[in-house]
This record gives sequence, C-alpha cells and structure tokens, in this order.
Amino acid sequence: MKILISNDDGYLAPGLIALAEAMAAIAEIVVVAPDSNRSGSSNSLTLDRPLSVSQASNGFYFVNGTPTDCVHIALTGGIAGFVPDLVVSGINQGQNMGDDTLYSGTVAAATEGYLFGIPAIAFSQVHHGWAHLDAAAKVARDIVLRRFDTLPKPYLLNVNIPNLPYEQLNTTIATRLGKRHMAEPVVRSQDPRGREIYWIGPPGGAKDAGEGTDFHATEHGAISITPLQIDLTHAQQLNLLRRELG
Ligand code: MN
Repeated sequence: MKILISNDDGYLAPGLIALAEAMAAIAEIVVVAPDSNRSGSSNSLTLDRPLSVSQASNGFYFVNGTPTDCVHIALTGGIAGFVPDLVVSGINQGQNMGDDTLYSGTVAAATEGYLFGIPAIAFSQVHHGWAHLDAAAKVARDIVLRRFDTLPKPYLLNVNIPNLPYEQLNTTIATRLGKRHMAEPVVRSQDPRGREIYWIGPPGGAKDAGEGTDFHATEHGAISITPLQIDLTHAQQLNLLRRELG
C-alpha cells in the first residue's frame, strides 16, 4: 500500500508525525504538508504566487501553501513519486465535526485526494492538547487496515477520535454530521498603533448533536466515522425551484 499524508497544522505538528509513524509501519509513505499552521483554510488553492517545496531532515516535504496545495502538488507535481492508494490527513489538533468540515484544512487535504479519485481519510482528535495521541495514531492505523472494501471508491471518510487511552477506544460508530450553532462573534481589539483589529472567534457549540451524529458518538467515547460527499446540491429545493421556474 502507498499512502500520501498531509495535514493543516503544519509539517512540525505532533499529530502529523504520529500519523506518519503509524502509516510507515504498514505502507510506503510520503508526507507533504504546509510549512505553517493553516487550520481553517478549507479547500483553498494558492493562485496569486508560485509555491516551493522543501524537504525536512526527517524526509517530510513542506510547502509554503495550503493543505489543498500540498496534496495537489504531491499528486500532480511528481513529489510523491507514486500514485497513492490512499490519502490520509491529520491527526488534527481538535475536532472537525458538523459544519467544521466546510472550514477544515484537515478535511480539505483528504478531499483533494478524493477529488483526484483516490480514497481519503481525515483524522482529528476531539480535544486540543495532543492527550493520548499515541492511541489516536493506533486507531488511525486500525482504520486504514480495515480497507472498507464494501464502500465504492473513491470514498471520503471523516474520523473524529476521543482523547482516550487505546483500551477505551473500543467502539466505532458510522455517523452523520451534526450541526453547530452560529459561530461566536469576532473579538474586536486595537493594534499598538490604535488601529481597529478583529480576531475570528471560536465556532459555535453543537446544536444538532442527537443520536447518530458525530457529536453524539464522540461525546459517548466512541470513534466517529462519517462518509462525506462533495455535491452540495439541495435535492429537495432543486425540485421546488424547478417547479417555480417552470
Ligand atoms: Mn488544524
């Protein structure tokens, strides 16, 4: 098996290193990740400047761009040196559940692989701080080894892992995305020269966290796996709109 690995927390992130070590034990790997933390960069591509690729002493490649840039360059720029059987992203510092998946660079890196026809899995730990990262890496290995042969390829899976010891991570649930409340407002402040500045605030809390959702599963200590698709068409409203427009 050949695996391309990326993330959005940057090539120095402990979650990426743990994921790469876990994958290297079961596959031929290449790591191509952003040179800095690009969390929240979604599926953005850098189009206003050229990008460069460097290699760290541990063999990881890093790019002065977004997670999507990284996977795009790895797949089309010959960096990987192979066509991967799988793209994995993470392990992200913090959950990517519900609406997070639209903003997430972790999910975006996986999505870029998926859009190139390659099965892809995004991994996130529910809480910040890297507690039980070794357990999350073992879970990632277990999930990759499952292979999901019953799913049509390519698949795009979003995995959220509670920060628990490995022995306690014994339940895995297939989930749908929950929903969040609106994000918290921006934090207004002033820079040292008195100019108004704004910090984007944190996401809202879970609004739809009912049974069957990613929020519900992880809240109860289970690993959540949500199969994603990228077609945003609202099928129900499409019919209403067709009727309205004749
Ligand atoms: Mn991140």
